[in-house]
Amino acid sequence: MESLVGGGGLEMGTGLSRVMAYLQASPSPYHVVATLASALESAGFTELLEADPWELHPGGRHFVIRGQGSLIAFRLPAVRGTPPSLRLVGAHTDSPGLLVKPRPLVVRNGHLVWDVEVYGSPILATWFDRELSLAGLVSCRGSGGEIGELRVDWRLPLAILPNAAIHLNREVNEGHRYQRHEELQPVCRVLSPGEKVEEPTVLFRRWLGERIGVEAPAWAGAEPLGWELSFYEARPACRVGLEGEWLVGGRLDNQLSCFIGLQSLLEVAGRGKGEGEIGLEGRGGEGEGETALPMLACFHHEEVGSLSLQGAAGQFAESVIRRILPRGGEAMARTMARSALLSVDNAHALHPNYGRKHDEGHRPLLNGGIVVKSNANQRYTTDASSGGRLKGLCRRLGVPWQEFAMRADLPCGSTIGPHLAARLGLPGVDIGVPTWAMHSIRETAGLADLESLGKLLKGFFVHGLPPAEGGNRF
Ligand code: ZN
Repeated sequence: MESLVGGGGLEMGTGLSRVMAYLQASPSPYHVVATLASALESAGFTELLEADPWELHPGGRHFVIRGQGSLIAFRLPAVRGTPPSLRLVGAHTDSPGLLVKPRPLVVRNGHLVWDVEVYGSPILATWFDRELSLAGLVSCRGSGGEIGELRVDWRLPLAILPNAAIHLNREVNEGHRYQRHEELQPVCRVLSPGEKVEEPTVLFRRWLGERIGVEAPAWAGAEPLGWELSFYEARPACRVGLEGEWLVGGRLDNQLSCFIGLQSLLEVAGRGKGEGEIGLEGRGGEGEGETALPMLACFHHEEVGSLSLQGAAGQFAESVIRRILPRGGEAMARTMARSALLSVDNAHALHPNYGRKHDEGHRPLLNGGIVVKSNANQRYTTDASSGGRLKGLCRRLGVPWQEFAMRADLPCGSTIGPHLAARLGLPGVDIGVPTWAMHSIRETAGLADLESLGKLLKGFFVHGLPPAEGGNRF
């Protein structure tokens, strides 16, 4: 049983422990962005503020944050003046779950409970009987009247959403429909008989103020004004399987894509990589790699449709790309015609107990390779051309891939790919690592697939998608 606790011989090694540390440090989209930003800064990337003029130089490494929950990082081409070849990897920072309301505490049956809204589409049953902690973003007013935006994370389990005992709900195993307004409120405290509790919102603001003082001592005593705080399972991710071949943890959809994207970008374009000469390849001849523009874009709000100030259906990516392109009316169109998008989001792996839920011909296996997602109704952006070019790259890199299409009688999910491709006007492919239990509080992915994803994203940043040549187009 040694392999259960050992390295298991996986090449990923330190890469995997880093991903697990990132997951642990990232209980909310705002923490994902902070984790990405701090790793990027350590690798020589500097932040650009949207409100400032940007002074850009060839080969410069930068990142831009919008709304604290979305981030775009890139390395500029080594030469300026020619429309670059953008190699865009997109992912999302948010995960479905339970968010506290603006008035987050209520008294119910002599208990203080957390009042929540459901964010996106979690598997609700998985939130019961878990050690829950709370994290997110708080806007507050400092002693001098200044407004601050701070991340907070209680880290410790501070609430639980207990199931009703089987004796009180005998039919629970026959299929239970959760009443979202009544049954999803995690318990905060049992009140003593006759206990007079402070007005709950006042009480919460006091707790939040104290937490701000712990996490950001410079803001101790600040008055909380607004918050987006979500519950998360406090238990860290771990390896599971006879050979430790699976990773099990919260928010694997889609933080795995964010963090493997980050590691791939840093390996290709971080400090010390290709200084002076970028070391990336172009579409054709010698030197064209100097126009390569590797970019990682991670967006909030995918789980609720992406249409927001910082979502992938908004103009954040377009705004950043326009600002870094050479001036001129044609620049955007010429750039997009030379560019490609990999939209990376987890995919459904075949579940042995639910074989009938999968299309017989399109059943990706855990640890079977990267999943290429297609949908005739454009819920994914993959098409014959972009899918073929991606598989050409996989062949070149020796990366295994698997096909996914939904059963014809089940509706297909979607992700950021179609939004970005449509908004920016560039060809793209929807891909991802196969996963079990997507949108559960704890999901499962295969370690070999993470390795394949890293190899593919790195290869994409370096080579781009191979160009489609000729055919019978003319
Ligand atoms: Zn996702």
